[in-house]
Amino acid sequence: MAAKPTPMMEQYLALKREAGDALLFYRMGDFFELFFDDAKVASQVLDIALTTRGEHGGEPVPMCGVPVHSAEGYLARLIKGGCRVAIAEQTETPDEAKERAKREGKPVSKALVARDIVRFVTAGTLTEEALLEPRRANLLVAIAPVRDGVGIAACDISTGRMSLEDCEPDRLDAALARLGASEVVAPDDWDDGTSDVITRPRHDFRSDDGEARLKAIHGLATLDGLGDFSRPMLAAAAGLIAYLDHAGRGKLPFLLPPVARGSAAHLAMDAATRSSLEILTAQSGGREGSLIACVDRCATGAGARQLAEDLSAPLADRAGIEARLASVQHFHSDPLLRADLRAILRQAPDIGRALGRLVAGRGSPRDLGQIRDGLSEASRVRDMLAASADLPPLLSDASQALGGHAALVDHLARALVASPPTERSQGGFIAPEYDHSLDALRETSGNARKAIAALEAKYREDTETASLKIKHNKVLGYFIEVPAKHGDKLMAPDSGFTHRQTMAGAVRFNSIGLHEEASRIAEAGAHALAAEEAHFEELVGEVVAAREAIAATAEALARIDVAAALAERAVEGDWTRPEMSDEPCLDVTGGRHPVVEQALAKTGERFVANDCSLGPDDRLWLIGGPNMGGKSTFLRQNALIMLLAQAGSFVPASSARIGIADRLFSRVGASDNLARGRSTFMVEMVETAAILSQATERSFVILDEVGRGTSTYDGMALAWAVVEAVHEQLGCRCLFATHYHELSRLADTCDALSLHHVRAREWKGDLVLLHELAQGAADRSYGLSVAKLAGVPQPVIKRAKAVLDKLEKGRAETGGLAAGLGDLPLFAVTAQAEEKQCDALRDALEALDVDSLSPREALDELYRLKAEA
Ligand code: ADP
Repeated sequence: MAAKPTPMMEQYLALKREAGDALLFYRMGDFFELFFDDAKVASQVLDIALTTRGEHGGEPVPMCGVPVHSAEGYLARLIKGGCRVAIAEQTETPDEAKERAKREGKPVSKALVARDIVRFVTAGTLTEEALLEPRRANLLVAIAPVRDGVGIAACDISTGRMSLEDCEPDRLDAALARLGASEVVAPDDWDDGTSDVITRPRHDFRSDDGEARLKAIHGLATLDGLGDFSRPMLAAAAGLIAYLDHAGRGKLPFLLPPVARGSAAHLAMDAATRSSLEILTAQSGGREGSLIACVDRCATGAGARQLAEDLSAPLADRAGIEARLASVQHFHSDPLLRADLRAILRQAPDIGRALGRLVAGRGSPRDLGQIRDGLSEASRVRDMLAASADLPPLLSDASQALGGHAALVDHLARALVASPPTERSQGGFIAPEYDHSLDALRETSGNARKAIAALEAKYREDTETASLKIKHNKVLGYFIEVPAKHGDKLMAPDSGFTHRQTMAGAVRFNSIGLHEEASRIAEAGAHALAAEEAHFEELVGEVVAAREAIAATAEALARIDVAAALAERAVEGDWTRPEMSDEPCLDVTGGRHPVVEQALAKTGERFVANDCSLGPDDRLWLIGGPNMGGKSTFLRQNALIMLLAQAGSFVPASSARIGIADRLFSRVGASDNLARGRSTFMVEMVETAAILSQATERSFVILDEVGRGTSTYDGMALAWAVVEAVHEQLGCRCLFATHYHELSRLADTCDALSLHHVRAREWKGDLVLLHELAQGAADRSYGLSVAKLAGVPQPVIKRAKAVLDKLEKGRAETGGLAAGLGDLPLFAVTAQAEEKQCDALRDALEALDVDSLSPREALDELYRLKAEA
């Protein structure tokens, strides 16, 4: 029979049950230990040794551990590795445990220190500087699916920002893609088949609770003043707050009042569009090569986070966009102001995150120092803006939010040393002259230290031992040490020294004088530490009381940084302010792809600028031309120009007039992704279907070689039908790149469609890609020339040429692949006819009185309807 578990093991197992699927960090002295499967997982992720400790159920218990003082680094790696961690701390000292055992009449020798889970560390609930990326927001998102909608609550607890929004169920993926959360929480009865969602009990997601919690947190009688919150939004807020409660074991982090986000206020983009436009991450998975890496010139981490948010959720309302553009313009036309301001911002610490830590009770003296420095930089920024004439409204609003902290800054400046430490247990962060009793305590221990130095000199003389030293360690405190050969001198009973320890090469002593001075140091030190601790608490209290104003300052600084950084980027790349319009147009002259242009510049190549001009009469461009000719680049540059403009940025073009879009779609044909498997064509079609059901007249769609992931016939037929549907049904602006020549026939029937191609020229038998867009259909495909350019051997090219000649001859004789397609009735006509037939059937069905029919008559009726269909 297996032995009964030890009391410690019992305690461990109880805590582990509470921790659930989070790894349990079990505090034992200076280490956090992990046991059983937790130990196996952690040792793998962290690459540390797996050992065993004792037995459980007759089996050795796997164990690994990390030192407490370096736990943060290990935590960071576990969180990155997708783990969640529960921290179980000792909640009493071993002495207290013994006292308790005595009181409870239990054997003192077996007293077990009480432990409790004090916090869950998860990807979405981090505040530690070391665990966060400075230029990325860290979002925790809760979703609350209700009958016909989904509420979404998102918050970045490192800064306290929180937003609530409603979402249609089929747009949830797009919303989650926009938010890019580190962690998503959902009710446990919700199942979309993805495993990386944390599920919590459904009763955590009650809208009444959400409302009550928000009111309580923000001390409000009603939420009306904050905005219009729907039931699903409040349900999501309830789920989010309940999860934060769970993770913090009842201690809530800093939360700012929630902001309601209207879905119509933003340019909607789904996950496929985001990834194909490489907004925040490139296809390679990193930031390098992404739009943000190319645009971001922010001087602060908070600015970079704001910019990422702006690019992820560009605006769809003209006033909002113009306000941002005007603030960029202001810095664009004042290079001196911009340079001075950015120089200050570069010095400014991340006060949003420092505040988040302080409010969460995880702050340090360094965080207080950051608040002091950040707020005083903010008031310098304010003065600078105040001196600038014609400040646009967005900047003057932001500048309002920068001030009002003078008293707090002054207090912090008097109280703290210049660069306070992250560790507060050692003290040393309160400035001299702030507290005279603290100064006196410090002087006492300073004097005692001097006295000890004097004692050392005196004892050396008295004992004639030049190698005598007074030393200090944690176990003994202060002691006198001499090499072993001099030990006897001090051993004499009347020497005034008492023996403490004999080491291999040395002997250690105490003396009454030393003991006195050491006690003075210890006592003064303890009092000084207590005094510093009390000052710390008071200062934190003061900062916490001003938290909303400080958070508003942090946000204003970020907004100003973004505007100045976008101006900087515009100057650097010769970008221009777009003219925004409510008409469905897209007129770009001299447009460029910012990322490709930057990449080319590194190798000294020049990017060829191209124009685009879409409007009600010419809203679909079909673009042909050789592979590598620049079709994809052209499509994307126009989508990015629209996205940048709606995010409030200048754009890489010599001029741009942009009709504000409600949705942006980007799709790439599957064959680029062949490596990802056979279902890619399916993916391509699912994504295309989404466009056909969601795009409106105000949308902008780019389709790159859609249909090429299947056989030529299928692919061309699909491409043909998609172009027709976009032209006839959706009526949105669209750029469609294709290598199917045959599609050019669509120009005969679709009057708002025009043909374009990327130019290429054959020169001395070689193909030159001009990357220049021109009117009209591509005259030929240049496939063989591209193959040659790519290094396909000459004999193969020659043979291909012979095959091609034969095929082309066949085409000339029969009219080719698309022969007769021109005679097909138009998409809209066929769709209308089908619709009409359905209506007739529906009418006939409705006219039937089913109850009055005999079975025989019913059967006859069915035959009749079937014959009609
Ligand atoms: P396609 O879609 O026609 O196959 P891409 O748009 O992928 O071609 O372009 C292929 C390459 O050509 C790009 O990687 C880029 O290096 C270069 N390129 C594309 N457009 C331009 C341009 N406008 N100016 C200069 N180089 C370009």
